[in-house]
Amino acid sequence: QHEAIDLKRYIRNIPDFPKPGILFYDISTLMREPDAWQIAMGRLARQIAAWEPDMLAAVESRGFLTAAPLADRLGCGMLMLRKPGKLPGATISHTYDLEYGSDTLQIQADAVKPGQRVVVMDDLLATGGTLSASVTLLQKAGANVVGASVLVELTGLGGRAKVNAPVKTLLSYD
Ligand code: 5GP
Repeated sequence: QHEAIDLKRYIRNIPDFPKPGILFYDISTLMREPDAWQIAMGRLARQIAAWEPDMLAAVESRGFLTAAPLADRLGCGMLMLRKPGKLPGATISHTYDLEYGSDTLQIQADAVKPGQRVVVMDDLLATGGTLSASVTLLQKAGANVVGASVLVELTGLGGRAKVNAPVKTLLSYD
């Protein structure tokens, strides 16, 4: 019966956020329904377990929301990819281009052991810029990135092709 539940019903669209012309896919309406959220985490767990990860890498900030419960379910560790200046100690950075300007992500230099199997997690894949930069940063840090997992993929933007790892998603939108 769980298998039949369409989780798309719980994703809300908000027009003109964060800027005019952007349609925002809001996952907070999924998170606030405990049964739906549990089903979503269960489905993600099954997808991710197949990659047999040692670590889940969570992309700031909505990637934290899925990576933490999934690391707990799968019995693997987790680490954070954060905006500059948030992580203590030695860090490794990667700067990537946006439509206008650029952005930087950081990881703690000792976050992964060489060759560890890492799955990177975020809430949503759009242009692929964030996920592709995350994979590159993890590889710089010595990780074997075996997969990328998102709740929502906007397929029309072709972002998946930019990501240098296999991508799995729960919900796809054209
Ligand atoms: P991309 O880098 O693939 O273009 O955009 C994905 C990143 O932007 C993710 O980190 C995601 O959290 C955020 N993002 C962009 N659009 C949306 C959206 O419609 N809904 C949500 N929840 N996040 C978005």
